[in-house]
This record gives sequence, C-alpha cells and structure tokens, in this order.
Amino acid sequence: MKRGVARAHAHVLASPALGLALLAGCARAPSPLAPAWHGAIGLPGHGVLSGGAEVPADAEGLRWLRHNDRHWGTPRFTRAIARAAAFVARERPGGVLAVGDLSTRTGGGPVPPHLSHRSGVDADLLFFVTTIDGAPVPSPGFVHFGADGLARDDDHARWLRFDVEREWLFAKALLEDPDARIQWIFVSDVVKAWLLEWALARGDGPETIRRAAAVMRQPHPGGVHDDHFHVRTACSPAEVAAGCELLGPRREWLDYGAGPDDEPDEELAISLLQPLSPAPMP
Ligand SMILES: [Zn+2]
Repeated sequence: MKRGVARAHAHVLASPALGLALLAGCARAPSPLAPAWHGAIGLPGHGVLSGGAEVPADAEGLRWLRHNDRHWGTPRFTRAIARAAAFVARERPGGVLAVGDLSTRTGGGPVPPHLSHRSGVDADLLFFVTTIDGAPVPSPGFVHFGADGLARDDDHARWLRFDVEREWLFAKALLEDPDARIQWIFVSDVVKAWLLEWALARGDGPETIRRAAAVMRQPHPGGVHDDHFHVRTACSPAEVAAGCELLGPRREWLDYGAGPDDEPDEELAISLLQPLSPAPMP
C-alpha cells in the first residue's frame, strides 16, 4: 500500500485517477466501489471513520468535557475507554474521567487544532485531578501541570493536584486490556515519570510498567501534553483488513496477525500531533 495514495485520497476521489486507485486497492473512503472498507479507514491524520461509536456523554466514571460531535471512535476503542473509566470509578470511587476530543461521526478532517483525530483511533483524555486537600473533582479542562504536580484552575480561582493514583489506574486498565490495543499515550516526560514512579512504588506488575514506559511519550512537535493524555489505539488485524492503516512502531504484546514487518514511521506518527495553528491548543 502506497501511503502517498492514502494521504491524497480526498483529491483522488475527485479526479480521473479514481479508477486507477481503486484498481490498486488503495481508495481510502467508504464507497459503493469499495464496500469492504469500514471502521477506521486510512491513517489517523488522513483517514475517515465509518460505523463508529460514541463515548457516552455521561457514564460510570466518565463524562464529556464539551458537548459536541467529537466523541466518535471505533466501537472497540470507545468501549475500552469506557471500561477503563469504570474500572477507576470502582477501584477509587469519586474521580471522573473528562473526555475531550476523539473524532467526528464520519471522521475526516481537518479537526482543528488536531492534525490527527480523523479516523477514530485518537482520544484526548483529561487528567484526573483533586483539590489541594486531595478531594477528587472533575477536571475543568486543559490545565497545565508543573513539576510540582500542581495546576492553576483560573476559572475557579484554585490550585489543583495531579491525581497520580487514579491516573495510573486508568493507564493500567488501558494497558492491560487486550481490546484497547494501546499504541501510544502521548504525555509529558514529567507526568510519565510520576506515573512510573507511582507504579513501581506500589509494586505493580513489571509487564504493565514496561508497556507504560514504551507507549508514554512526550511528543515533539505537538505540544508537551502536560494537560492531558492523547491515547492512540493500534488497528487490529481485522481492522487492517477493513482499511485501517498501521502507523508507527508495533508493540510486541499486541497481535498484528500476519501483516508486514514493523513500520518505522515513529517520527511521522508523532508529527501528526502537531497543531494546525501556530498557537497550540488542546
Ligand atoms: Zn489529541
């Protein structure tokens, strides 16, 4: 599969090259001429979504940050997010996951300010936070945590504390869920260090900690991500057969079927986080 063709699919569909592209099996949009494509189609930064599912607006342990049409992902991925949030709510009641942007119902783009979020495999998930006294409160949004673990919440004129206990439980639930297929958790180096230190101190399993160390990455460019997790799920073999294009390194604990070998495009995968506007927004 030529990635260049996938990137240009919007142009291809409007041009005489369409027939050629279909003969080559590279069209990247649902169409009567390519009925097999469905789900997450194409690349996170260039694809579309069909047959997606919405993260519920208000469910056990989670709620939307904003009411809009940006909570769609592949059903496998949205269910995994909801499961992980419910797990945290049961283990440590009181916290709530604030769900930011995933993709729109049909995906595609652009989805400003994101370069990815187009094919239902990306999710911006706000951090679990507490008051200074340790009482869990809903995240007010994209508040930036400094090295002291505190963030200023200007809207409520207060300081918030990073809830390392619940955030780790959430990451752990995702990483141990085979259906979540976590490929990346883009997050700042500082937050990553807190989470790994916490996990080591509480004696979590080395395999989970190893996975966390591998998938957590401060993106560059694309913002430091000291204010949320950007989680990306990896296509399953069935999803690849239906048009999902793998991007970036493969995780050895995930099943990729009998596909081609490792994709080397780690840097490309990260660059897809770069905001469209010069002023970075969440
Ligand atoms: Zn994002």
